[in-house]
Amino acid sequence: MKNTLPFTLKRTAGYLFGFVLLYAPFELYRRFMEGVLDVQPGFLPHAFCPRIPTAEIFTGGFFDLNSVMVWSTLVFWLLCLVFGPFFCGRLCVAGFFTEALSHIVPDKYKIEWEKYVPVAHIRYGMLLAYMLLPLWYGFYPCAYCNFYFFDSLVSVIFGAALDFTLPLLISGALYMVLFGLFTKGGRGYCRFLCPQGAMQSFWFYIGARLGIAARIKVDESACVKCGLCVKSCPMRAMSIKNGSVESNTALCIKCGVCSHNCPRGAIHTGR
Ligand code: SF4
Ligand code: SF4
Ligand code: SF4
Repeated sequence: MKNTLPFTLKRTAGYLFGFVLLYAPFELYRRFMEGVLDVQPGFLPHAFCPRIPTAEIFTGGFFDLNSVMVWSTLVFWLLCLVFGPFFCGRLCVAGFFTEALSHIVPDKYKIEWEKYVPVAHIRYGMLLAYMLLPLWYGFYPCAYCNFYFFDSLVSVIFGAALDFTLPLLISGALYMVLFGLFTKGGRGYCRFLCPQGAMQSFWFYIGARLGIAARIKVDESACVKCGLCVKSCPMRAMSIKNGSVESNTALCIKCGVCSHNCPRGAIHTGR
């Protein structure tokens, strides 16, 4: 049987790094900005939130935002074009948290959303709605944000007073319970509702089409169609179609779980 411990530890270490980089009380990214570069990010709870610039693309307010936020976002998107959704796959502890939570519930009680709804269409439809809504409603989404919910949860653990609004609590319940505990892979929020994940995947899709970003590929001659990669993919991006195993670039976060679980070493990344 394959030893999964080194892989799990490596993955967990990446997400812990993401945690100390962005979340209080550590916030290394903000401290770096302030202490080394001598600039004030000026936005909390996370020193880096590309969701806000994303919501300002169509309003024209993108470049009116704090310059650190604008430049961080532009550099981030460029990195996604080249490397794919590395933040989702390696650093975003909010996504990993619900993936880990979902292991508590037996698979037979979890929903395989793909059987009922077109997940990728909903994902990008939500992203579009997220970008268009501010045009009409001045919509600001922090109260519905899983990062913010997760950050509030962590702050309470580190001694802050409870300060959850009702919308935030409803979002948290959706994020942790329906789309976490009771969703196969545990990343329902990532797949349906996260504009940041969808933006990363959008740039990844473009990067892969242009031949810049390496994507997940399956060596058909080595694959025995055992389906382990399909079963283990937290984003449910792997599928067997017409006898071939393939990864959907619109959903894949390049977490490496599929290649780790493949008994034939048939999965690799390539352009
Ligand atoms: S989709 Fe969103 S919540 Fe999920 S891992 Fe990516 S950035 Fe994090
Ligand atoms: S786990 Fe490997 S051998 Fe099994 S279906 Fe996936 S690619 Fe093929
Ligand atoms: S296809 Fe593989 S790398 Fe992509 S999300 Fe699924 S398990 Fe992770």
